[in-house]
Amino acid sequence: MEEKDDLTSLTLRVVIDSYENILGIRGKNSVLNFAKLGKFIDSPPDYTEDEMFPQEYADRIIRSSSVIIGESGTKAIIVRAGRDTMKHIVINNEAAKMLSESQDMTPRDKMKALLNIYAMEINRPPDFEFSDEGAVFHNPGCTLCDGVKTEKPFCNFTSGVFEGMGIFIAGFDNIRCEETLCKAKGDNECRFDIIYGG
Ligand SMILES: [Zn+2]
Repeated sequence: MEEKDDLTSLTLRVVIDSYENILGIRGKNSVLNFAKLGKFIDSPPDYTEDEMFPQEYADRIIRSSSVIIGESGTKAIIVRAGRDTMKHIVINNEAAKMLSESQDMTPRDKMKALLNIYAMEINRPPDFEFSDEGAVFHNPGCTLCDGVKTEKPFCNFTSGVFEGMGIFIAGFDNIRCEETLCKAKGDNECRFDIIYGG
């Protein structure tokens, strides 16, 4: 299998932080040890987008966590990690900060812009359906769940990222996102249903 080095240090750190926030330090350490990533216990990754790690590290953490605390507990933690990644990006990224402070755009317009930027960043066609209530994102080329086989949708991190965009940038406090189709469970695309909730 091809090694992919496409996880930013920031994302890996925020994932690890989410485990610590919810499970405490000991819980986080046992997940890291189980994932054979004990090296991050004493020297966690930095909050930077410059350094990269293998995507496989996150996969190992998620799989270990599913064994230790089950799938639904893991889902909650991973969604939170996706949200918190956006929180850190807003603090460190001027364009995101400007968008969040803009008075000229409605939250819906901000969300449209953000989703289009997101599709560009991950090199996917911007395949969206927008309505007043929300948006649907079709991602047949999703790489997050590449090579993964699960019963339930796997790409909860991405759902969290979309919720974080809404909460920390666009101004939708009650936004929710569910992944309703996922290639990991045999569907031919990953499909994200975003409900603005306001
Ligand atoms: Zn998926």
